[in-house]
Amino acid sequence: MKSTGLNINFQENAWWFIIANDQILLQPQGDFIPYGNLDDLPLSAELVINKIKLGVYQSSPCYLVTLPEQHDLGFGEYDDLRFLLGRVDDLLFEMAGRAFQIKLFYQTHQYCGQCGEKMHPINWEIAMKCYHCEHRCYPRISPCIIVGIRKENKILLALHRRHQKSNNPIYTVLAGFVEAGETLETCIHREVYEEAHIRVKNIEYVASQPWPFPHSLMMGYIAEYDSGDIKIDQKELCSADWYEMNNLPNVPNHGTLARQLINKLVNQSGQQTAPLSME
Ligand SMILES: [Zn+2]
Repeated sequence: MKSTGLNINFQENAWWFIIANDQILLQPQGDFIPYGNLDDLPLSAELVINKIKLGVYQSSPCYLVTLPEQHDLGFGEYDDLRFLLGRVDDLLFEMAGRAFQIKLFYQTHQYCGQCGEKMHPINWEIAMKCYHCEHRCYPRISPCIIVGIRKENKILLALHRRHQKSNNPIYTVLAGFVEAGETLETCIHREVYEEAHIRVKNIEYVASQPWPFPHSLMMGYIAEYDSGDIKIDQKELCSADWYEMNNLPNVPNHGTLARQLINKLVNQSGQQTAPLSME
């Protein structure tokens, strides 16, 4: 792995996203991400040789450094990316997510998927190229839809099998991956019907959120119930039901797009129901 070829000023202060064994090196205080002049950080030249420019945060450049193992650099500790969710602002979390996605991209594109030869980084963009057959790859991004569905003053919430064993299970809106050749609207209708066996109408786009676990892009919508009785897909869900907006179960945390959609539905219904006191 090489630098993307962008000029690096070694005297310039930068944010350092140091990843090893799928964890990131975090400082105990402040913004968690190490910040400073490269010369002041305990990173040896041989460790930083494979650094990648990720972008800019608060006017300072951001670099990804991938280490072969979790070296003790004398400061901070390694932790999971999820630790940062809700603990840093959205832009810094997105940059950390980008660091993990790009690290995974280089790790999983060492060899050409078309001819099997070694791939090489391109020095002016984040991409890998096979000089044998000219095949070129970019970081993989998997689009997903996520949709909050309203029926009068109720929201459809589901308990997913993956949350089933939690002590305090989270009830959330429906979501699913976009399939090849699908529009986002087609995907919403298909996923909602597959998972809950109902039809929706009046689909409205709300917002998107990169979800780097490992490389999704969530596109969030709200919709209205149209027809059908709930019948769940038992492979994915334990339950799904309509919940009164003023008496919701445990829903996803702030900082998640799911929560943003739920809040939007609750706020929209504010003229008809007592406003919720949500965190
Ligand atoms: Zn090739």
